[in-house]
Amino acid sequence: MVVAVDGTSGSGKSSTCRLVAERLGLRYLDTGAMYRAVAWWMLQHDVNIYDVDEVAARAHEPLLESGTDPLRPTITLDGVDVSVEIRSEAVNAAVSPVSTVPAVRARLVDLQRATIGEGGIVVEGRDIGSVVWPDAGLKIYLTADPAARARRRAAEAGTHDVAATQESLLNRDRIDSARTVAPLVMPDGAVHVDSTHLSLDEVVDVVVGLATAPADVAP
Ligand code: C5P
Repeated sequence: MVVAVDGTSGSGKSSTCRLVAERLGLRYLDTGAMYRAVAWWMLQHDVNIYDVDEVAARAHEPLLESGTDPLRPTITLDGVDVSVEIRSEAVNAAVSPVSTVPAVRARLVDLQRATIGEGGIVVEGRDIGSVVWPDAGLKIYLTADPAARARRRAAEAGTHDVAATQESLLNRDRIDSARTVAPLVMPDGAVHVDSTHLSLDEVVDVVVGLATAPADVAP
């Protein structure tokens, strides 16, 4: 079983996917964390993140490893845990430009496919159901209206500046949806779940229900 969950920034993918994986006894892969780790590495190595050729030339260098335990997901870069660093404002601003570079995507998609392997995993991102694993047994496209997403993200980050958080989310959505390689789209065969008026538990129930539905009623 591969459950592919794509959607806009801050729509609740991470919390949903971790709980779904836990409930179903599956592994969990956060592909956004991988793009964030590469963006962090580029910043640390003074790479101009807006220079596509420069980013592409270094894309093979960072050594990335993703831990897939939903109770304790990890991401290491050259052996060092960077889970905290990749959530910084600097990375928020750098990750979408870095993610547009085809060489970065090619490398990370290879790593993601190798991790998915035989399946038994919930994978979240922007292009999982469309590009990384189009044969996923269940594809979810998770969205929420921008104000709800910004409120949740700001609460998580402990900031009161909801307007700035919303602008940052929308800016990433714009770049992610407009890029030429693997843009954010609703994948063919995906179920659209709008979480604006749902609690986290309700979203998890919907996804678990779809994942465990008999084959003839599953999408
Ligand atoms: O999911 P998260 O918000 O952490 O993702 C950060 C960024 O990584 C996204 O805004 C997007 O630019 C990039 N990303 C991507 N493809 C994925 C996952 C994330 O381009 N599969």
